[in-house]
Amino acid sequence: MLLHRDPSDPARRAVELAQRGRMILDVATADLEAAEQRLGPFHATSWHFRQALAEAGRSWDRLRAEFGGPALESALSQPPITFLTLGAEDGELPPVVLIPIAGRTYRAEKIAGTPLAPTQWRLTRLSPPLEHGPYYACRLRDGSTQCDCAEWTYQVADGARPARPLCKHLAALAALGWL
Ligand SMILES: [Zn+2]
Repeated sequence: MLLHRDPSDPARRAVELAQRGRMILDVATADLEAAEQRLGPFHATSWHFRQALAEAGRSWDRLRAEFGGPALESALSQPPITFLTLGAEDGELPPVVLIPIAGRTYRAEKIAGTPLAPTQWRLTRLSPPLEHGPYYACRLRDGSTQCDCAEWTYQVADGARPARPLCKHLAALAALGWL
C-alpha cells in the first residue's frame, strides 16, 4: 500500500501532493464562498480569501505541470494517504480534520458510538456540499462496516457481504486505519 511506502518514494509523493493540493484548493474555495456570503464580495476578509484561493490555484497548476493531468486524476482516485488538520492551535475549538475521498474533500468527525456500532464517523463534504446532509460510516460490533450513502446501499442490495468495504467512504477510513 502506498501509505506504508517511504515518504520519499516518488509515486507516494505524487499522490500525497495531489491529495493535499486538492484539499487546500477545496478549503480555499469554501472559505471564499463563506466569506462572500457573510460579508460580501468586497470585504477585506473576502479579498484575503480570494488571494488564498488564487495561490492555491497556482500551486495546483504547478502540480499539474509537474506530474500531468492524468497522473493527478489517478492520484486523487487512490485511497487517502494524507489528511489535513485545521485550527485548534488556541485550543478553543476542536480541530477540523479533512480527508480526501475520490477527489473530494470531506470533514471527518469521530462521533460517539453505540454498543451496536462502537466506531462511528460523520463525513461532511466540503465543496460542493452534499444535498442530503453528511454521511455516517461505522464499524459494527460484529466487525462489519456500514455507510448510509447510495453506493453502499446499492452494493448491499446486490447481495454481497464481502470483507472489503463497500463504498469509497468506508474504504477511505479503512485506508487511514481509522475504522
Ligand atoms: Zn459511503
